[in-house]
Amino acid sequence: MKKFFAAIVALVVLTASFASVLASSYVGNRNSGKFHYANCTYARKMNQKHRVYFNAREEAVKAGYIPCKRCKP
Ligand SMILES: [Zn+2]
Repeated sequence: MKKFFAAIVALVVLTASFASVLASSYVGNRNSGKFHYANCTYARKMNQKHRVYFNAREEAVKAGYIPCKRCKP
C-alpha cells in the first residue's frame, strides 16, 4: 500500500512539472543569456541543460535575459 501511495505522489509531481513546462511560453538560454518564444527554432534546438522557463516576458527581462533577434519575444 505504501508503494502504491509513493507511485501516486510520483505521478502527480511528474504531471505538475510537465504541465509547468507546457505552460511556459518563453525559454531562456542560461549559456547565451537570451530568451525565445517556446516555439522558436533556436529554443527547440537549445541544449536541455541550458533551458530556463519563463511564464512571462517580464520575468525573463528581470532575470537579465535579452530577447532573441530572430523570434523577437
Ligand atoms: Zn528565438
